[in-house]
Amino acid sequence: MGIFDIFKFGLKKSATNFTEGLREIIIKKEIDDQTLNEIEEFLIKSDVGLEAAEDIRGIISQKKIDPKKNLLGEVNNILKQYIFELMRPLEKKDFFDKTENMKTIIVSGVNGVGKTTTIGKLGKILKSNGNKILFSASDTFRAAAIDQLDNWSKKIEVKIVKSSQGSDPASVAYKAVEEAKNNNYSHVLIDTAGRLQNKKNLMEEYKKISNVTKKIDEKSPHEVILVLDATSGQNIITQVEEFNRIIPITGLVMTKLDGTAKGGILIAISKKFKLPILALGMGEKEDDLQIFDAKIFSDSFIGAN
Ligand code: GDP
Ligand code: MG
Repeated sequence: MGIFDIFKFGLKKSATNFTEGLREIIIKKEIDDQTLNEIEEFLIKSDVGLEAAEDIRGIISQKKIDPKKNLLGEVNNILKQYIFELMRPLEKKDFFDKTENMKTIIVSGVNGVGKTTTIGKLGKILKSNGNKILFSASDTFRAAAIDQLDNWSKKIEVKIVKSSQGSDPASVAYKAVEEAKNNNYSHVLIDTAGRLQNKKNLMEEYKKISNVTKKIDEKSPHEVILVLDATSGQNIITQVEEFNRIIPITGLVMTKLDGTAKGGILIAISKKFKLPILALGMGEKEDDLQIFDAKIFSDSFIGAN
């Protein structure tokens, strides 16, 4: 499968929702106020967010669409263009480039969003670009979490620094960053426990991880990646706000886009926060993470008609 087909396949549920939803609304020969209302309502229902839905409504109503043209096709083109222009500045492909200087990367997010899995997948892409990767098993809360990252490290053949269950997550991170510094690793990917953003002590622990890495490199952490689960709906907005308050997020990864028809939430997030998007998770396997590309995303999200 080519890259475009992979996106299409991964975003199939959302794309079908859009194509079908708009087809049902746009049955008339012209776009009147009622149709505009219905389009806006549909976009909001698809989790695109109030602001983007309003923008899109405005663009459609101002554009003089030639009634002789295929109306649905024209609206789809407007949507594609809107999504592309909104998201193009959010691409961050150079994250994956080969680098010599050590980068420490904290991977955060609430429980079950796909942090550990994403670390495995990111590690694989980074490694294939010639980087030297080290994992830090700083989710020490459950033994299973340490094992899970350990399995990923074996699967993609990268080194891991780990400790026993219940040990201090920050000290594991410290050891990992130290080891990386001494042995010329290019990337340390730090796994963290699924912190609930309203649990103050857990958030403090997360901050502590960030602070200890600074003892070795004051510019650390170089990246703070927030992982979001596309199936979590509007809750995602609060997650971004809360995590961004603790340590500024430098990149987002949205997972499980394959499991939802409401991938429109990525558009809402883009409009509201303008945070870089590193990659999209579209499956559980090691190659099911795609580097974010706004053109391919918009073209496959708004399906053919
Ligand atoms: P964590 O608690 O944030 O570390 O989450 P995990 O990495 O343990 O992932 C939780 C579950 O989500 C696992 O069963 C993963 O296989 C699954 N998962 C992660 N990313 C994706 C994705 O992009 N698509 C699908 N369908 N499942 C995913
Ligand atoms: Mg985990």
